[in-house]
Amino acid sequence: MDAIDQIEQLFERHGSQLYEGQLRESVSALEHSLQTAQLAEWAQADHALVAAALLHDIGHFIDPVGDDQVDDEHERRAAALLASSFPPAVVEPVRLHVQAKRYLVATDAKYLAGLSSASVHSLALQGGPMSADECRRFEATPYAEDAVLLRRWDDSAKAPGRKTPSLAYYLPLLREFHTGAALKAPRTVVGSLDV
Ligand code: FE
Repeated sequence: MDAIDQIEQLFERHGSQLYEGQLRESVSALEHSLQTAQLAEWAQADHALVAAALLHDIGHFIDPVGDDQVDDEHERRAAALLASSFPPAVVEPVRLHVQAKRYLVATDAKYLAGLSSASVHSLALQGGPMSADECRRFEATPYAEDAVLLRRWDDSAKAPGRKTPSLAYYLPLLREFHTGAALKAPRTVVGSLDV
């Protein structure tokens, strides 16, 4: 079983769970992932960032902590899984998407008000808003800008009943990274624009 089969299996096994545990959002984990990827496509993100958007929460499916009073560090488990099969342009925005929330809370006065209650709850566990020093370090981190873009799509990808393409639609995109065919270009097959 290759990495893409493994990812597909993780979505099949765990994708129906409600997003973000007991303080749950109103969409399933799979719906949330597909909505995040769709928003990336609508923004004409390149292939790597669409893949990152789809995969950003896959850490929730690996050894879940099962205690919503601790930081589950799902971004680290996701990055560890993806690092052997995907380039940094996919892995790093995933690894940084929680830090991007802490950054946005510190730098965008309106951002906190738009977060779901589950995201506000986890923010405190994840360290709260970044300090000015932490913001500067974050801005200097490779792929920080992509992580911020991903974070904003993530936060908007919680709409019950929104139509998206299926997981099968995105699997060929993931496979591009195995065949070396992935392009640093906007998606040109934009089927999700029609949904
Ligand atoms: Fe998410």
